[in-house]
Amino acid sequence: MSERVTNWAGNVVFGARRVHRPGSVDEVRSLVASGGPLRVLGSGHSFNRMADTTGDLVSLAGLPRVVAVAPDRRTVRVDGGIRYGDLAVALEKEGLALHNTASLPHISVAGAVATATHGSGVRNANLASAVSGLEFLSGTGDLVALSRDDADLAGAVVGLGAPGVVTALTLDVVPAFELRQYVYDNVPRSSISAHLSEMLADGYSVSLFTDWTGLDANMAWLKRAEPMAGEWFGATPADGPRHPVPGMPAQNSTDQSGAPGPWHTRLPHFRMEFTPSAGEELQSEWHVAASDGLAAIDAVASIRTQVAAVLQVCEIRAVAADELWLSPNYQRNSIALHFTWIADTSAVLPVVAEVERVLAPLNPRPHWGKVFTMAPAAVRAAYPRFADFADLVDRYDPAGVFRNEWLDALLTSGS
Ligand SMILES: Cc1cc2nc3c(=O)[nH]c(=O)nc-3n(C[C@H](O)[C@H](O)[C@H](O)COP(=O)(O)OP(=O)(O)OC[C@H]3O[C@@H](n4cnc5c(N)ncnc54)[C@H](O)[C@@H]3O)c2cc1C
Repeated sequence: MSERVTNWAGNVVFGARRVHRPGSVDEVRSLVASGGPLRVLGSGHSFNRMADTTGDLVSLAGLPRVVAVAPDRRTVRVDGGIRYGDLAVALEKEGLALHNTASLPHISVAGAVATATHGSGVRNANLASAVSGLEFLSGTGDLVALSRDDADLAGAVVGLGAPGVVTALTLDVVPAFELRQYVYDNVPRSSISAHLSEMLADGYSVSLFTDWTGLDANMAWLKRAEPMAGEWFGATPADGPRHPVPGMPAQNSTDQSGAPGPWHTRLPHFRMEFTPSAGEELQSEWHVAASDGLAAIDAVASIRTQVAAVLQVCEIRAVAADELWLSPNYQRNSIALHFTWIADTSAVLPVVAEVERVLAPLNPRPHWGKVFTMAPAAVRAAYPRFADFADLVDRYDPAGVFRNEWLDALLTSGS
């Protein structure tokens, strides 16, 4: 490959022979017909080799943009290459909204859904839960259209790119709404111990941030309809705008003044026009049952010196349960512990394994798009419908057109 293509973080250099940027679904169909191996690259924000291939890498960014609101205004059909930031602006013009966003608007909808990307909020399920229809080119070249009437939809949505090339998705939408964002400093550990569930439920979307140099959390970010004043569980209102990552410019963050604003200008932490997060980083994340949230925080606290040594920031969020087979939130209201690490794979990997060791008794499910070292058998065991997923992949891609090393390890490796 003459072109050096990497993921967003730069820690993965793709081994593809060729990179294609088709301008139509028919062109994508021809690429699939060539027999692979083939993988789709979304916006490249995943941190592991899930999108990698030794064959053809296909970006759908050049497909014609589709934002088609249904006549009943309850769903929108979008193309397989659109990014959330562009969709959000189009929906806002229609007076509509998505139920939630991730921390950043830069990611593609299809790529985010394939990995069960999520935001926060005890009543907000992940972004994949909004998918009511999925259209994909299967390994046999057929254009498959699934709706909620099809049992396979719940298996194919968080599909890890395995059932096929997603060319269009239909998403649930809601009437546009406004939120205010507030940031609080120094959240006492005693409050977290006594009130974690209440804290995470005290807004539409709530995040706690800590660098693990101490036991208190450094910040709480609350996105909510109602105004706030005074202390919050012993934390003090921030005296100015903040960035989640220590030392990064606050101008990259969304408005935290408490002024109401459109949903898509408050729910993400980061603005579309700036680099999100730190830019130089790796990320990991594990989901546990919400009832184990405090135990998970205690487990990480027990190794916090090791964690803090390679950490930029850790974020604790809530995600509501869903019914998607490979969702880390499958039938489980969850607490997600996210880690933005320094950009040093060899220093970070041993700590990732350590976090997994202390979380193991809590049956953690890793974020599909981030760095994890859990053995494939342990990952499979965390998903009651994993065997059904493997069967679904075999049915839609019997010849393995979309298989790569990462998927082979997950689907078939013995340990
Ligand atoms: C700065 C930063 C902040 C983040 N914040 C969050 C967050 O708040 N919450 C969270 O949950 N995650 C977060 N993530 C992780 C991110 O949301 C996921 O990695 C997500 O998959 C990114 O979407 P993408 O389009 O970049 O996917 P890619 O990395 O491009 O692809 C992911 C997978 O989807 C497949 N895929 C992509 N498009 C298609 C398609 N059209 N058809 C079939 N398969 C496809 C790829 O082959 C690959 O296997 C963050 C990542 C970064 C870099």
